[in-house]
Amino acid sequence: MVSGRVVWTGRQAGAESLHHMAGLFNLGLLSVLMHLALPLDFQHHRYNELVKALLGVQRDCPFISHLYSIGRSAQGRHLYVLELSDNPGLHELLEPEFKYVGNMHGNEVLGRELLIQLAQYLCEEYNLRNPRITHLIHQTRIHILPSMNPDGYEVAADQVTEANIYLTGRANARGVDLNRNFPDLHVALQKQKNRNHHMSLAPNWQEQAEQETYAVIRWLQSYNFVLSANMHGGAVVANYPFDKAQQPYGRGPYRATTSVTPDHKLFQKLAKVYSYSHGWMHSGANCGDYFPEGITNGASWYSLSRGMQDFNYLHTNCFEITLELSCKKFPPESELQREWYGNREALLTFMEEVHKGIKGMVLDENNNGISKATISVFGINHDVTSGIGGDYFRLLLPGKYVVTASAPGYQDQAILVDVGTDEPTRVDFHLVPKAVAPSTTGMPTISLPPVTTSRAPLRRVGPESAWEGPLMSRKHRRPRRRLRGH
Ligand SMILES: [Zn+2]
Repeated sequence: MVSGRVVWTGRQAGAESLHHMAGLFNLGLLSVLMHLALPLDFQHHRYNELVKALLGVQRDCPFISHLYSIGRSAQGRHLYVLELSDNPGLHELLEPEFKYVGNMHGNEVLGRELLIQLAQYLCEEYNLRNPRITHLIHQTRIHILPSMNPDGYEVAADQVTEANIYLTGRANARGVDLNRNFPDLHVALQKQKNRNHHMSLAPNWQEQAEQETYAVIRWLQSYNFVLSANMHGGAVVANYPFDKAQQPYGRGPYRATTSVTPDHKLFQKLAKVYSYSHGWMHSGANCGDYFPEGITNGASWYSLSRGMQDFNYLHTNCFEITLELSCKKFPPESELQREWYGNREALLTFMEEVHKGIKGMVLDENNNGISKATISVFGINHDVTSGIGGDYFRLLLPGKYVVTASAPGYQDQAILVDVGTDEPTRVDFHLVPKAVAPSTTGMPTISLPPVTTSRAPLRRVGPESAWEGPLMSRKHRRPRRRLRGH
């Protein structure tokens, strides 16, 4: 079943010797040696082969790639991220950050291999001037972490039977399941029912985080990620937050109960984008399970605490879903090609979803960006914040929304926005300092921008707006917080 993984072929000889000398090589030496290796196609990659493959992409696409490490595993392996972008290493204003995370459970390996393939594919197609891929790389900063649990992978890869692989290697080297190791922000959520964004962490959160978890949390805090998927195996379904049941458990921890976010419809759509672009996920009948349309709410499948996707939603601006990609957690190499072609379109289409909703700048009176400004959408109790340069991204389904920007020391500004189905709607905010704001007598709640620079189809909210009623009264100045509890 897994012989393709453990029987070495002649052309893998170079890779095998690298594996035995693992501790001796640094990246520079590997970089030299990889020129001697033949291309790796549709085969499993041990740690050194993974590193070689990523370096190979960097070699073939030096101007659009950047390899970096977010930290080390418990056994000292690097958690490498390959970034693909037209200006690698830099955040460009208004260019969204996207991420894929694979192999969080060391024995669930298809995501790891698909992400290596994806990185190679993006590089090759970019070099061939594929217009879709060129556009994607020019407009997006893509971060690919093929393995969040490289230690667990090596344990799983040493197993010789499918039965052993079902659980062996799932956890990290210290025996901890990384998808049960993130701070549980649902506890705070229960206490603060009117808030479900940017929940703060307990002062001692680091003490309970494994090295891999710690590295990922610091990574999430360092980049203003907008959209993400993390990849698992053992089923075929796109799973969206929340993973943790909101209600007290009545009949044990595995009682199924739907636990939805304020962005429920958006998450369902994101999950369907993957399932319907995938070769067979959308059929729903896979691996002996049935998930209508190939999607499921996490908690309605089974509830889990301290998972990564809930953490993304509750602590950061990032919307993450969890992709279960294969019935077999460690599929044989003979299945990798079919899996790649079954997933390729879904991997691309899901990345393109980062370019939906609204984006723009939050600017002060001198047109300087305001970081950490809050962007609120009326009726959806989940805010996002602007990044260091003042740019923000808010995924939304098509429709009309009232969007408010607020920042300490400035008057709030609300704008009525039309969101279409394709490109993101550009909405810039120009905040006026409270101290110098013009008199708001008669119009007490909304500061209008002195100049409208938004290019997209949007209107400033004025007396003629249909939204005047709910927004023009001080009583309803921040109606979202009062009217919408989660
Ligand atoms: Zn998993």
